[in-house]
Amino acid sequence: MTSEEKFKKVISHAKEYGFVFPSSEIYDGLSAVYDYGQNGASLKNNIKDYWLKAMVQLNDNIVNIDSAILMHPSIWKASGHVDAFNDPLIDNKDSKKRYRADVLIEDHISKIEKKIDKEVAKAQKKFGENFDKEKYISTNPRVLQYLDKIKLIHNDFSKALDDDDLVSLKKMIEDLEIVCPVSGSKNWTDIKQFNLMFGTKLGASSENAMDLYLRPETAQGIFVNFLNVQKTSRLKIPFGIAQIGKAFRNEIVARQFIFRMREFEQMEMQFFIKPGTQMEWYSKWKETRLKWHLSLGIKAENYRFHDHEKLAHYADAACDIEFKFPFGFKELEGIHSRTDFDLTNHEKFSSKKIKYFDNQTNERYTPYVLETSIGLDRMFLAIFSNSLEEEDLKDGSIRTVLKLPSILAPIKIAILPLIKKDGLPELAKKIFKKLKWDYEVIYDEKDAVGRRYRRQDALGTPFCITVDHQSIEDGTVTIRDRDSMIQERLTIDEVTSKIKSALNIQTWLKA
Ligand code: ATP
Repeated sequence: MTSEEKFKKVISHAKEYGFVFPSSEIYDGLSAVYDYGQNGASLKNNIKDYWLKAMVQLNDNIVNIDSAILMHPSIWKASGHVDAFNDPLIDNKDSKKRYRADVLIEDHISKIEKKIDKEVAKAQKKFGENFDKEKYISTNPRVLQYLDKIKLIHNDFSKALDDDDLVSLKKMIEDLEIVCPVSGSKNWTDIKQFNLMFGTKLGASSENAMDLYLRPETAQGIFVNFLNVQKTSRLKIPFGIAQIGKAFRNEIVARQFIFRMREFEQMEMQFFIKPGTQMEWYSKWKETRLKWHLSLGIKAENYRFHDHEKLAHYADAACDIEFKFPFGFKELEGIHSRTDFDLTNHEKFSSKKIKYFDNQTNERYTPYVLETSIGLDRMFLAIFSNSLEEEDLKDGSIRTVLKLPSILAPIKIAILPLIKKDGLPELAKKIFKKLKWDYEVIYDEKDAVGRRYRRQDALGTPFCITVDHQSIEDGTVTIRDRDSMIQERLTIDEVTSKIKSALNIQTWLKA
């Protein structure tokens, strides 16, 4: 299956099984806006919960807030978003399609990287076990040529972005002979800057209405509440404020399903620290966040760090945790050392003192900030796409299975009476009623049991408990494991303790 086919399968599976629907579908949809269905909403909540447990519940110096989406417009002046939250936009005159100029160049670099990967894979096949990848990459003339090319592009690219030099950026697109993926032509317009914030109005009459923005990030709600939280929680630096909430960006090119949306959700944490300690905390949070991702049992080879070439206006160090999505490695989470940029600017724009007083050293200072920011929808896509598998079974059939980390699965247990008579439904319902206090459980008696197993596999349900005639006689049931399809016969108490240990949050987060 090509990666494109795989991605199409991910999108259709998400729709067919009640995870993600296009927004306003009966009105032909709204571009890059999506709704989460019954299973998607649960999976999303479970991801939030897993993040909150790791970030807030297990850290006694991190608290959680929920600030409003609408905020005073001066906040976006102070944060730099009004002046600098732009993307360079370019149109192809033939296809009339719009692109982000920086993404066109980044995609071009990815194509060269793919060529290197191909060379490496070819050599690996040829040399077998004796293959020394590092040596090959540092000596093979063709690979070196590709690497030089990438370096040159990177240098020109960073310079053009740093200098806000849109003419040079366009020249790069022309010199690299980048074509429009739709029309195949090189007939480009000039590049323009485009602000990504959505505007709205507050007030009843148009003359007196106040221009507002829908927040493009949740972080500012944390900064403007820094003093409120610090004073009421009496936390001492270092400490963090976390928040999960919606953010809005009028993205120029919104494609790739829920990867790039116009309305999305972020899980952010701002960690307030003493100036000068930021590099220490930067490494610590990089390590902590990667560990969190790996705790979900997804292979480490699917993650990589990518250091930012061009630092945002507020940062003195920044990197992304990238994930191998079906369309390649892309940003999943950002880790940014934001200096004192935000607090200092809010102090300036609001004319209110925003300082921290350290009563041990008697120092008063503006804290530095270390941010971890992850897109909830991107996390959803990472988990979902990585979990979807098609397995060839021995009997020649294909099994579609969603191997979600069981701690995140929307339904944890399906209770299935083997047949709809002989007292089996009654016993199954009794077990259902008992387990639903602790877990998301579903009861299903429709269709042959084999079909019911497949249905649960496709939903990602890690356990199926089947009640059969022997259950009536000796109180045992079978428990089927989604991934191995192995069934074990156990007593109800044994099943309960097996599930309890499989879903023990401590085991997951300590991994
Ligand atoms: P990108 O370079 O992909 O546009 P970004 O660097 O602008 O992302 P940040 O401002 O660092 O993103 O936002 C933090 C996180 O929010 C990102 O790592 C990503 O997971 C998520 N995110 C940002 N924009 C979107 C979007 N349009 N749709 C979904 N998630 C998003």
